[in-house]
Amino acid sequence: MTLLAAAMPKRRGACPGLFAPMQTGDGLLVRLVPKGTISLHAFADLCAAGRRYGNGIIEVTSRGSIQVRGLNAISAPQFAAAIAALDMAAGDAVSILGNPLGGLDAQEIFDATGLVADLRSAIAQRGLAARLSPKVSVVIDSAGAIDLETIPADIRLHAHATEGDLMLRVSVGGDQARAAELGQVAPAQGIETVIRLLEVIARRGRDVRAREILAREGVEVFLPAIRELLLPGQDGRSLRRERGVALGSYPLRDETMARGVALAFGHADASALEELAGAAKTTGASSLRTAPGCVLLAIGLAAQSVSSFASAAEQLGFVTDGNDPRLRVIACSGAPICASAHLPARALAPVIARNAVGFAGTIHVSGCAKGCAQNATAALTIVGTPEGCALIADGSPHDVPFAVVTASELAGAVQHHVRERRQEDAHG
Ligand code: SF4
Repeated sequence: MTLLAAAMPKRRGACPGLFAPMQTGDGLLVRLVPKGTISLHAFADLCAAGRRYGNGIIEVTSRGSIQVRGLNAISAPQFAAAIAALDMAAGDAVSILGNPLGGLDAQEIFDATGLVADLRSAIAQRGLAARLSPKVSVVIDSAGAIDLETIPADIRLHAHATEGDLMLRVSVGGDQARAAELGQVAPAQGIETVIRLLEVIARRGRDVRAREILAREGVEVFLPAIRELLLPGQDGRSLRRERGVALGSYPLRDETMARGVALAFGHADASALEELAGAAKTTGASSLRTAPGCVLLAIGLAAQSVSSFASAAEQLGFVTDGNDPRLRVIACSGAPICASAHLPARALAPVIARNAVGFAGTIHVSGCAKGCAQNATAALTIVGTPEGCALIADGSPHDVPFAVVTASELAGAVQHHVRERRQEDAHG
């Protein structure tokens, strides 16, 4: 795609890319998928470009992509050219998510970085991205320290070892718990397996996802495409062990450590991110990677420097603790960033987090009923409507609210709901 294409905003419903910006309420938004390690210098350049060409708001998404906001038709191609020169982006094709610490992780049983890179090339060579929904995604889980099992995907490969032999479990249409299992293949057949399954999806149309095919035609429709690649000895499930979200400390193969910190509500100012990169450098890190859960991982820390980096990140406002109530609140951009919004979802998120301390479930704050920030149901959903803030228990933005309150009543209403829920839980 030429840089000129960056001046053309994408159609609604499509996914943005580095060279395919999407129109939003605060200008054009671009998304880039980092292809691996980002040097501290390159990350600082990214932040500077976000401030220079956009409005300085940078996001790390729930899948670990980077989004830059507030660009325009002139500045978006300039931003894309600046980032292309840094050679950090994987390209705008089918989303492939591998281990965020792939190739570095002391715990992973399979270094899938080569498989991921070769799969990207194979998809590009076949022009598959043009025949698939932009939302089609692949997860390559190398059983590393960071949990990818809750990330939904159309196609999943999950590494496991059986009697010393490395295998890839193949499944389609969901997260690890819900996806339909097809069997297992040798790592050398991983690329061919994914390509054949993507072809099955592509043949059914450009807006079709694997879970829709499963619902309509059943799992049998995928099996003939890969039957000759499947190995015998299916045990029906992968070896399971405890893995964490990316907010911990992780030993790396070179005996240094990685430490994850999250962007509160998935976004931060470019200058705060530059300060975070500065703190990483001061504490001895060599680089950064992104991870699911809006996380940045500092790479190459000495064991004794991990807590210094985490303290510096906490002081800068980043989330360093898996129990931080901010992690439970998911908010879309809301007003004034999004023209469809009836409430300032992003601005309200910290207020709601402060008033929901001790709440066990997820809280979804949505500027309108579209619910861009979360597909799944939430323990509490707050939706902006022309009548006020609608509160919905255990549902989605389209469900019937149990209360509608004004913006000034919202904090009190959240507190009241949290208190009631805790009392219900205490009484069983
Ligand atoms: S949920 Fe509504 S308000 Fe929020 S970003 Fe989507 S369209 Fe905009």
